[in-house]
Amino acid sequence: MTLGDARSAVPALFIDRDGTLIADAHYLADASRVQLLSGAAAAVAQANAAQVPVVVVTNQSGIARGLITHAQYEAVRDQTNTLLNAGGAAVLATYHCPHWGHPKEPCDCRKPGLGMYREAAAAHQLDLMQSAYIGDRWRDVQPALATGGIGILVPGIETPSADVEAARSALSARLFMAESIAEAVSIALAMIGSRAPLQPPSDLQ
Ligand SMILES: [Mg+2]
Ligand SMILES: [Zn+2]
Repeated sequence: MTLGDARSAVPALFIDRDGTLIADAHYLADASRVQLLSGAAAAVAQANAAQVPVVVVTNQSGIARGLITHAQYEAVRDQTNTLLNAGGAAVLATYHCPHWGHPKEPCDCRKPGLGMYREAAAAHQLDLMQSAYIGDRWRDVQPALATGGIGILVPGIETPSADVEAARSALSARLFMAESIAEAVSIALAMIGSRAPLQPPSDLQ
């Protein structure tokens, strides 16, 4: 695993998009339909204030399924960022897995795979072991178990009960459930210690 230079790598918050930051519209292809969930911008802004980078990681199998074009995906990503910025928040980067997730066509980036996290860590000098993994599905949280990081499930209306049960049975000193994205970010920042990184990302507003 590429963890970068241990002396300068910093913790990050890895946050799922659909059902965690924006309303889960199922294979969202229309940027005009992007809706931030309540408290999402404020939660990201809280991480910005603590100088902890926020990275969005999203499975977008709709691209491989032919339901979303790459241009539509990019428009939805850009609109999500526009709305976050309007709410006083900024993300460092967004990574997506465009693959189908079919067992016969495996990739290493579809969550709970670590491909997107490793790519982000290498590009931005992030410390995966000290980072937090937040989302509304168990697969968003599982990377915490693989990396030794902090996992936080934020159950939403689309969260399968099996995912809640998986998190409940794995609760520990580093694995939590939160009632809102705001609570999840507060837990993560408290665990990380809100310490300022040695080298704040220059493109973080
Ligand atoms: Mg989700
Ligand atoms: Zn993939």
